[in-house]
Amino acid sequence: MSNENSPCTVRENTLIARGSGAFDETGSISVPIYRSATYTHNTLEHRKDAFYYSRCNTPTRRALEKQVAALEHGKDALAVTIGLAAMDIVIRLFEPGDRVIVSSDLYGGSYRLFSEVYKKYGIDFDYVDTWDIDSVKRAVTEKTKGFFVETPSNPMLRISDIRAISKIAKENNALLIVDNTFLSPLFQKPIDLGADIVIHSATKFLAGHNDVLAGIIVTATEELREKLYFYVMSVGNALSPDDSWLTLRGIETLSVRLERQQKNACSLVVFLKTIPSVKKVYYPGDKNHPDHELAKTQQSGFGSMISFEIKDADKASEYFEKFKIIYQAGSLGGVQSLINIPNASLQCPIPEEQRAHTGVSDAIFRLSVGIEDIDDLKEDLAQALK
Ligand SMILES: *Cc1c(COP(=O)(O)O)cnc(C)c1O
Repeated sequence: MSNENSPCTVRENTLIARGSGAFDETGSISVPIYRSATYTHNTLEHRKDAFYYSRCNTPTRRALEKQVAALEHGKDALAVTIGLAAMDIVIRLFEPGDRVIVSSDLYGGSYRLFSEVYKKYGIDFDYVDTWDIDSVKRAVTEKTKGFFVETPSNPMLRISDIRAISKIAKENNALLIVDNTFLSPLFQKPIDLGADIVIHSATKFLAGHNDVLAGIIVTATEELREKLYFYVMSVGNALSPDDSWLTLRGIETLSVRLERQQKNACSLVVFLKTIPSVKKVYYPGDKNHPDHELAKTQQSGFGSMISFEIKDADKASEYFEKFKIIYQAGSLGGVQSLINIPNASLQCPIPEEQRAHTGVSDAIFRLSVGIEDIDDLKEDLAQALK
């Protein structure tokens, strides 16, 4: 199967570019899209890694899972229909009465899943400033069974110390789950830092072209993968062969896309600070960012997500409507630059006091920087924010 033909010692950029690699007896470089719903067997003997029915396992999805597990330095992975499905599967590890500590600045859809869907089933979520280790320690109770950390967080780009939280999780016999969507394994490998599970909205940087929806769960152990596989197979939200293929295809260019996106982002951070209507720029690569030093200890890049605050919140919609190159759209991570105002859209499920506490106001714009010509991006920002 995939990767098994690859020399295991290749460097990361080679692993990324080789993709699922000389896959079968045909020598195909690109893994085929196996659309077969079922597989024939002339024996009743059940083999663990064999293919029986595509809800459970398909060669195309398996190739994607192995590739992402290798990139994340995990033991194995599961590919599901979308990022939220990945989270939904992971929450099933908890039981009524359990509490989970969650980053207070996080993707609005994650909040909705935790607090509007799962709370009803008796699992409680404590929203904590996970970038402040003392707050994390204070929030732990006997019932704490998990930590769900988004780092960098959406949209304020706060950084949480994965090593330190992993230590607290281990002392309390709890699981540490990291949402690595904003950096991808290219720039951060949470399992190396002590995480038990990494989840991705692969819709974003991993697939990278705004043309497929996918989610990935990477586990540090085989045992956790087995437990989670039981839910994926029982619930039925595994990723389709076609979408698995598109995601794999996207990953082949992960390193070149992200390096260009990051380079563009670094230039735009400097440029945004020169625009008079901009009050503050948030980017973990900026040495004025409160978590810059911590970011350097656990990330190998700062990524291409930027948030910025305008001076006059009343002008937000006027500025927003003027973008011509940068698309006004939700989502992130793809080759096209996208801008949005989190408070007006994706952060709405989060209670207003919590958003006010983390600094998400009507004056905050979130920019996902793409691979366009940097001068076009600068000109677009300058004219829209005038
Ligand atoms: C988009 C996103 C999700 C949810 O992923 P979907 O693929 O849209 O379900 C989760 N976490 C973060 C950080 C995201 O940006």
